[in-house]
Amino acid sequence: PDSLERLSSTIRDVPDFPQPGILFKDITPVLADAHLLQEAIEGMAEIFAGQKVDKVVGIDARGFIFGAMIAQRLGAGFVPVRKKGKLPWKTRGVDYSLEYGTNSVEMHLDALAPGERVVLADDLLATGGTAGAALELIRQSGAELLGSVFFIELAFLCGRERLEGMGPIHSLLKF
Ligand code: 5GP
Repeated sequence: PDSLERLSSTIRDVPDFPQPGILFKDITPVLADAHLLQEAIEGMAEIFAGQKVDKVVGIDARGFIFGAMIAQRLGAGFVPVRKKGKLPWKTRGVDYSLEYGTNSVEMHLDALAPGERVVLADDLLATGGTAGAALELIRQSGAELLGSVFFIELAFLCGRERLEGMGPIHSLLKF
C-alpha cells in the first residue's frame, strides 16, 4: 500500500558502493524518519504476531538495528551474529563463500538454547550467503527456527534459492 511506496522511495540507491558496479541500497534515510522507521519495524514484526518468539537473531551490523527493535516489539530477547573475532566469549562459527574468498560469522555458544523459538532478521537479502551462515548457526544451536525476515530482498539475486530448506523467508520490500 501507500506506506510501502513511501518506504521504497525513501531508500537511496548509491552507485559503485562499496565497489564499482554495485548499486547499494542505503537504508539510513528510512532509519532517520521516525514515522517510516516505525512502519518498517511494525511491518517486519507483524509477520510473527500471535506467535511466541523467544529470541530475535540480528546480523552485524544493520541487522542489529532492525533485529533489536523487532525483538522489543515481539517481547523477545535479542542475539547478535557478528563477524569473526568481535564477540568476547566462547563462540561457534560458520564460514561462507563470497564472490571472492570467504567470510565468517559467529554466535555466542550460550546465546540460544535448544527448543527456543527464534526469528532471524537483517536489513537486506542479496545472495543469501550471510543469512545462510546465520541460519546454520541457529540450526547448530538446536533452537527452533520460525523464519527469517528482511527489510529488503534483492529478488534478482535469488538469495531465497540459496536458503531453500532453511525455513520460511519473508521480506517487506522486493526489488
Ligand atoms: P548476501 O550475503 O545476501 O549477499 O548480502 C547480504 C548482507 O550484505 C546483509 O547483511 C546486508 O546488510 C549486506 N548488503 C549487501 N548488499 C547491500 C545493500 O545494497 N544495501 C544494504 N543496506 N546492505 C547490503
